[in-house]
Amino acid sequence: MAHRVTAPAMQRARRLLDQRVQPFVTHSAIPCEVFASGELFESVSYDKAQGLALSPFAVGTRWGKAWHTVWFKLVATVPAHLAGQPLVAAIDLGFTGRGDGFQVEGLAYRNGKIVHAVQPDRRLVHLGTGVAGEVIELWIEAAATPIIAGHAFGYGPTPLGDPATAGDAPLYQLRRAEVAVFDAGVNELAVALHAAIDLAIDLDESSPQRARLFAALERAGNALNVAEVSQTASVALDELKVVLSQEASVHSHKIVAAGHAHLDTAWLWPIRETRRKAVRTFANAIDLLKKNPDAVFSHSQAQHYAWVREDAPEIFTEVVKLVESGQWEPVGGMWVETDLNLPTGESLLRQMVYGQRSFESWFGVRCDGAFLPDDFGYPGTLPQIVQHGGGRWFFTQKLSWNETNKFPHHTFWWEGIDGTRVFTHFSPVDTYNALLTPSQLRFAERNFADHVGSTRSLVLYGHGDGGGGPTQTMIDRGRLANNLEGVPQVSFGKIRNFFADAESEYGSQAQTWVGEMYFEKHRGTYSSQLGTKQGNRNSERLLHELEVWSAVSGQRVEDIDGLWKRVLTQQFHDIIPGSSIAWVHDDAEAEHAAVADEVGQLLDSVLSPRTDGSTWLMNPAPVAISGVVDVNGVAQWVDVPAMSGTKMFSNEVPSTVTRVSCTEFAGDVDLSNGIVEAKWNSKGELIALRHCESGRSLLGADQVSSFVLRQDTPAEYDAWDIDMADANSPEIAVEVVRGPRVESVSELRVVIVADFATQVSKFQVRWSLSAGASRLDVALDADWRESEQRLQMKLPTAVLSREATCGTQFGHVRRPRHHNTSWDVAKFEVCAHRYVHVGEPGCGIAVLADGPRGYDVRGNALSLTLLRSPKFPDPQADIGRQRVEWSLYVDQSPGDVEVIEIESAKIAHPYRLIAGTPAAISSGIRLDVRGVLISVIKPADDGSGDLVVRLWETRGASTAGTMSISRPSGTAVQCNALEEPLEAPPLSISDGIIAVQLAPFQIQTLRISA
Ligand SMILES: [Zn+2]
Repeated sequence: MAHRVTAPAMQRARRLLDQRVQPFVTHSAIPCEVFASGELFESVSYDKAQGLALSPFAVGTRWGKAWHTVWFKLVATVPAHLAGQPLVAAIDLGFTGRGDGFQVEGLAYRNGKIVHAVQPDRRLVHLGTGVAGEVIELWIEAAATPIIAGHAFGYGPTPLGDPATAGDAPLYQLRRAEVAVFDAGVNELAVALHAAIDLAIDLDESSPQRARLFAALERAGNALNVAEVSQTASVALDELKVVLSQEASVHSHKIVAAGHAHLDTAWLWPIRETRRKAVRTFANAIDLLKKNPDAVFSHSQAQHYAWVREDAPEIFTEVVKLVESGQWEPVGGMWVETDLNLPTGESLLRQMVYGQRSFESWFGVRCDGAFLPDDFGYPGTLPQIVQHGGGRWFFTQKLSWNETNKFPHHTFWWEGIDGTRVFTHFSPVDTYNALLTPSQLRFAERNFADHVGSTRSLVLYGHGDGGGGPTQTMIDRGRLANNLEGVPQVSFGKIRNFFADAESEYGSQAQTWVGEMYFEKHRGTYSSQLGTKQGNRNSERLLHELEVWSAVSGQRVEDIDGLWKRVLTQQFHDIIPGSSIAWVHDDAEAEHAAVADEVGQLLDSVLSPRTDGSTWLMNPAPVAISGVVDVNGVAQWVDVPAMSGTKMFSNEVPSTVTRVSCTEFAGDVDLSNGIVEAKWNSKGELIALRHCESGRSLLGADQVSSFVLRQDTPAEYDAWDIDMADANSPEIAVEVVRGPRVESVSELRVVIVADFATQVSKFQVRWSLSAGASRLDVALDADWRESEQRLQMKLPTAVLSREATCGTQFGHVRRPRHHNTSWDVAKFEVCAHRYVHVGEPGCGIAVLADGPRGYDVRGNALSLTLLRSPKFPDPQADIGRQRVEWSLYVDQSPGDVEVIEIESAKIAHPYRLIAGTPAAISSGIRLDVRGVLISVIKPADDGSGDLVVRLWETRGASTAGTMSISRPSGTAVQCNALEEPLEAPPLSISDGIIAVQLAPFQIQTLRISA
């Protein structure tokens, strides 16, 4: 038979499926009468839709302005000849190919109840057995979500991502609205044919199984009478069953298949649409789980459940029942599938806190691992964060997208920078949207890197990215692959159980990966959509302030949970990275502005200042300020402890501190404060940066720090990616328009300013040096008009340091500045929180910033990415007025990051000025433990009046010391992030002193009884 395994045989088999079987899955169709509402920009509920004026609507008519909704009503009376037959409504809203989730979608209602979604792979709505004369009425809420991803624009600019520019043209055409007979036998034949063809193609040409499959396909084709498909389908199927019932080897790889719908919380659609996608997706899953009691569906993101609970309570009730019966698995324990590069460590902990508590309150379920299949990099502190949030395992697959290096494991221990280990699995199918085809399953088996001691892996199946989830066809394929020659053995199961089994089988032998898991792609997401990122930082900073001053004043603010959740939602892995359409980023900025307003009001009430004509400076940072501050536009000296307020200001430099001096000569400007000396030439280039006492120069010989443009033209994924070719492309210096000059001068602070421009953009830069400071502060105000350009601040350094120390959540990681290995080469742009430091013992320089930024640390330079201008998916991304701030820190410390952490904590938590005397002034907490910082102090979430203090060790060193608090006695209990006691002996408080001890990089949450 081998000679028959030829291209024509393959072609014949495919046509058999596509043209001679698939179209006959339904037959005997009768048309529905169709009525439609007008185009609604804001949709209405089903109940309200009953009151809409509907008009007759002919199949073939175009509909669907971008982002609009039309309610369709389909009516048909069952004729006598369809009585007793299994009926379906067959609907085509104008689907283009497959791509569920990226285009038009609908939600079907029958008899006032949600049935399931109508999508490219769910065109049939099952209606049960036909009764003659029965009037069938279906309502479809059809959403004209425009196609933004994929080939329509080839990553070019599209106006469709913003309703203001999307236009009025109808995007879709109603193509089909019929009631027909569903032929289960033909459908079964179609599934079997697809599997047999897919498997035959994937097998080696020399495989005997392949020859047998083609022979069976030929016999099936011969057995099928194309004039009587329905009547002969079972005979054809029998021919295929002969080969599809050949059993798998007992040694074949085992795959646990979890039904899933990767539903992005916002991306190529706004949150408004995600709320509806969540209802559609959940409705689909419920429908399938009820029909398939062996199947399991796993869904993460507590926020999605919260939306469904609010928008479709009847669907949520069904979910509760399915969780109880074991078919539905809430997974991941987070509020949303957060981005991991950009939120603070506190935010990541709160993702776990609010996720875990929500799942527990709704379902009584505590998630035991973190589930983040689609993140753009995994920080080295995540294992500890996951563990502190109640998890013990970790799942992703995204590193399969690495452009340079293949990650060496699929099942392994991931050890964080503090030594915490979480059992980790990367799905070897390299997607979170698997279809369970035999070829895909076979790929997973071939790709799996840990066969040496593990026999199993996890596959998530179901349409994702816009939701939709599994289909009946996928479940049928999964069952077929339960015991099929040449294919890994598939069983349906929960992710939780997979991890338990995999760990018990392989945990003692699995390899360990230590430190961060850098993603070798999407490096632009550290910088794109600055407004969204700055909004997030502002919200994080304000929530910190609110928690600190609530703790100080002893009153918990009830609204804080809701405010946290709103901010956490905006940290989703396509929002905060800047990879969404314009609408999503407009929404994000508006949400952060609203949060800022509300927190501002709450802070007023928590601080409740008494009007007495005084001005107070409130320092929410966990470190003291002893230096120059800005009080109503005037530089003043202040000394204020950590997390405390003061009204004592001075406009004079203390006697122990040197005044700032400024010299101008022939266009050059020279500033010095006795600690740092900086000098600019008339072109606005920083030509000298020195530590005064040692005389050590931090800038490379004959080198200058300047602003440069580089082209930014990714091969794909514009807002996501910075390509290596662009990172290595020639730099273009930004020209000075007006050279540096003094803007303001006092003995406390000197500010100089210079103007720069390109052909289309304008920049004003201010450098500010204060008395007593080790840092030069820089602020860039830009009118940014570039297209596909990136603006960088380039700082050539005269420091021999093979690695750069980069701040991350609750710690730091070191990144190479050289190209020894391909892993080093790939790190040409990295994300760092708060600082990047390079140093020799006793001498270093750092770039400090208020939050995470993208840096190029290669060679001897540090380059900070300031602005990008990608054109997809938001063609106007980052265009307009922007302000970016950073500092250059001159470091004389012995070689660890302690002073850098202290300085950057001040920048991360800036002071606030208030009019009047606050009700409470000081936290009363004094920490005397080298290298340890307070992450937050807050009232306990349970309203008990307990105080929660979270500490973290910054240097990577074991340390011990004392913390004094304003409560003389009692106990401090070590807790997890959920503020639940850990199995550790309580720490006693003696005369207000607690002895504390931390391991390297440890996060320690203490709960101090009221
Ligand atoms: Zn995603």
